[in-house]
Amino acid sequence: ESLTVAELAKKLHREPSELIKKLFMLGVMATINQDLDKDAIELICADYGVEVEEEVRVDKTDLEVYFEQEEINEEELVERPPVVTIMGHVDHGKTTLLDSIRNTKVTAGEAGGITQHIGAYQVNIDGKKITFLDTPGHAAFTTMRARGAKITDLAIIVVAADDGVMPQTVEAINHAKAAEVPIIVAVNKMDKPSANPDRVMQELTEHGLVPEDWGGDTIFVPISALKGEGIDTLLEMILLIAEVAELKANPDKNAIGTVIEAQLDKGRGSVATLLVQDGTLRIGDPIVVGHAYGRVRAMVNDMGRRVKEAGPATPVEITGINEVPQAGDRFVVFEDEKTARQVGESRAMTAIQANRSEKQRVTLDNLFEQMSQGDVKELNIIVKADVQGTVEAMVASLMKIDVEGVNVKIIHTGVGAITESDITLAAASNAIVIGFNVRPDVNAKRAAEEEGVDIRLHRIIYKVIEEIESAMKGMLDPEY
Ligand code: GDP
Repeated sequence: ESLTVAELAKKLHREPSELIKKLFMLGVMATINQDLDKDAIELICADYGVEVEEEVRVDKTDLEVYFEQEEINEEELVERPPVVTIMGHVDHGKTTLLDSIRNTKVTAGEAGGITQHIGAYQVNIDGKKITFLDTPGHAAFTTMRARGAKITDLAIIVVAADDGVMPQTVEAINHAKAAEVPIIVAVNKMDKPSANPDRVMQELTEHGLVPEDWGGDTIFVPISALKGEGIDTLLEMILLIAEVAELKANPDKNAIGTVIEAQLDKGRGSVATLLVQDGTLRIGDPIVVGHAYGRVRAMVNDMGRRVKEAGPATPVEITGINEVPQAGDRFVVFEDEKTARQVGESRAMTAIQANRSEKQRVTLDNLFEQMSQGDVKELNIIVKADVQGTVEAMVASLMKIDVEGVNVKIIHTGVGAITESDITLAAASNAIVIGFNVRPDVNAKRAAEEEGVDIRLHRIIYKVIEEIESAMKGMLDPEY
């Protein structure tokens, strides 16, 4: 933060001319409207025997600010349900599992309701709730994370026992690991004669998921999503992990949370499904959702019922905001509508000006700078190559890089072209992508440009290593 000479003089109750003189004596030539840096301010203040107290200025329009809980009053915290995402390879049974859980558990507690697909739903198990995100797959999960939203407490990785670990299984694992979200493995399709759960366990061990029976700490639950077998055990395990994680929230405050999905409805206007992450959301609350704002007009739960309030980890569909937000956008409830309107409008303005994704992503060109500023201590890398052998050789060489001040961390590897999913993961994890004898596909190229993700394409391993080492040492020649 800086102050002009005039402003500082006012704060110190001195004449500006006196300050200018003092500054001159200290070797700083200054005019009355000149901005003084922190050092100059400290020098002057020390001279007057005044202590500098830095005023922390909070940007009220930055919704993230509201997520960094100021004072947490432990006594007000209560247990909240876990929020679970189901991921896994295509056709391994994610949708069937989501349906199966919903059908067996929702209606039992809430007779008469008709399930509504609002993007998330809650089930009740002996008085304990679990919230499931209804969009299976890691793409949605990581897109949200790329936008700064951390809403998942636990990932279920579904693996079909007759098919084993497939490329998207590995992707899902790496996306969950990058987000530091605990994993439960659901070994699905156990009803099939060709089911081979041992093979699944064996294959997953290679990806760091070792079953408890084999000395690891990953929970594996055999299930048949189709026949509804093993679902109870799976739900029990979710609650077990949730209990260990001690998930808590404070229902007695204004709600904050994240948009799960949103669209424009002909009759109702902007409709958004919100996941309340803390506090309680109520009808009539003045709210800012992403760049939109308004008052919560109506709320509908996952059973299609109108509700008046929604507590922590509850998904609700709301109307009453002026624009359609995006999945992953944050929402914050304000005391009064005027503030909500001001924050909303100012956010909309800044968004237009900033034109999104001006965020400083790590690239090899700015790595050294970011390291020097202390912003980066770990270089996250995604490796894609034409054959598995090359992937392994690349990883082995990358792991040998030894430059003080920064660690190399491989967060995902794979065989084949660089895809949009790789870019989303890179953006969410501030990683660079190395392509060895492979190229990005069209979507990946566009996404990388939009998100500012650095892709490096190579054909010779030592060139890759050389490039990364030089970048780490700040000796990379700029690319033209
Ligand atoms: P998703 O792509 O992961 O969402 O997979 P789906 O849930 O759409 O399932 C793909 C196919 O596998 C469908 O034909 C399902 O009926 C079938 N399926 C899912 N779970 C099971 C199961 O437990 N047993 C058997 N035999 N088939 C299953």
